[in-house]
This record gives sequence, C-alpha cells and structure tokens, in this order.
Amino acid sequence: MSSLGLSMGTSNHRGITNRPNNRPLRLLERSGGQVLALPVLVLGRGFQPVTICTVRQALRLVYSERANVLDEGGHLHDFPTWATMVVRAHDDAIGTLRGDLRAPRIVRLHHYSCRYHPAVRLTRKNVMLRDGLRCQYCGDTFPEQDLDIDHVMPRCRGGQNEWQNLVTSCQTCNRRKGGHTPQEAHMPLRSRPRMPHWSFAARLLLRAGLLSSPEGSRSGYPQWEPFLRAG
Ligand SMILES: [Zn+2]
Repeated sequence: MSSLGLSMGTSNHRGITNRPNNRPLRLLERSGGQVLALPVLVLGRGFQPVTICTVRQALRLVYSERANVLDEGGHLHDFPTWATMVVRAHDDAIGTLRGDLRAPRIVRLHHYSCRYHPAVRLTRKNVMLRDGLRCQYCGDTFPEQDLDIDHVMPRCRGGQNEWQNLVTSCQTCNRRKGGHTPQEAHMPLRSRPRMPHWSFAARLLLRAGLLSSPEGSRSGYPQWEPFLRAG
C-alpha cells in the first residue's frame, strides 16, 4: 500500500480508545503484526463508507461498543458474538488471550463521527492519479513519465506545494506556461484542483488490485466493493 503513498487513518483516530471501565483488549501480534495492520472499511450508521482503519483500530471500536462487525452474509456482530465465530482456513486471524479471533473486513459505527477523515498523501504520483494522467491545460492524456507537475501559482511567486496549487501538465504546456499564472498565459485549467476525498484512496487500492491480495492477508476484499461503488 505504501507504494501508492496513501496514508489511511493514523493520527486521526485519537478517538478510538477502550472504555475506561473495560479491561483493555490485549491483541497478540502474529505474523509480525501484519494482520493487525490490514485495512478495514468503516461504514456509518446508514452503511455509507466513512473511512478505512486498521484491524487493530476496528477491533477496538467493536470492543468498546462503538461499532459492530459486518460479516460476509450481511449480519452484524458485537464483540462477544464475533469472538465466538470460528476462524476458517482462509480467514486472517489475530491471537487474543481467549483464543483466535477472525479479522474483520468491515465494521459499522453506531454513530457517525466526523473525526474519521484520513487524508490522501500529497505526492507527485497521487496528483497525477487525481487528474487521471490528463494534462489540465490541453486536456490530453499521457504516460506518467511524459507528465510534469505544474504549480498553478508559480513557486517563484509564492505558490505552495498543496493540492489546490498542483496540477498535472504535459511537458509542452508546462514549458509554454513558464512562470505565469493560467490567466496570464491564457491557459485556463480544465478543472479546479482539490484535495481528493478518502474514498479516492480506497478506489485506487481496489483498482490497483492491492485489496484482492494485500500483503499479509489470506483472503481478499471483495466484500468492500459494493459499498465503495455506492459511495
Ligand atoms: Zn498539455
């Protein structure tokens, strides 16, 4: 996943903690902790996709009664019920002091919280993916190696490295624009550059096939697809 430079749900999940009265959930690291780091789709109360977190964060949400696990058959489980589910051969499993636990793929929050909003990391590649490998000036698509990243407001005039100021440009348009703004160069942008929504990251992962066989996972993520298509 890191090859796409996507950052998903790390520091934004400060709210995920155990209830003070509960004994903390002890999760035992297996296979280098890879299973605990696998992605889990988080749905809101209305089953709309909200974000992606890790198996570790998802289990804490369920353990602290903030979310239920949604299984492949569409049934919701609280932690005690989920803990009784048999771990099948193709499941990813996490060890606990009470035995093995099936790694969830999807959880559904009891209450949607706007705290959950991971960001897509700003990288050259992600800007190009956001723009669909299309030059934002002439509108033509090019192979990645033939594209540049253009600062809409040139750097020499105070333009920043931010989603709203970076666009994909072919080399011809980039040279033509030079140190001018689009208005000065009479080269209007095809679309206003924006910070992509987190579901862009999830769709990229699905498209890249990473979720069909993420590193460290035994089974794929086909159960995510209907929710991401809907979202
Ligand atoms: Zn161009």
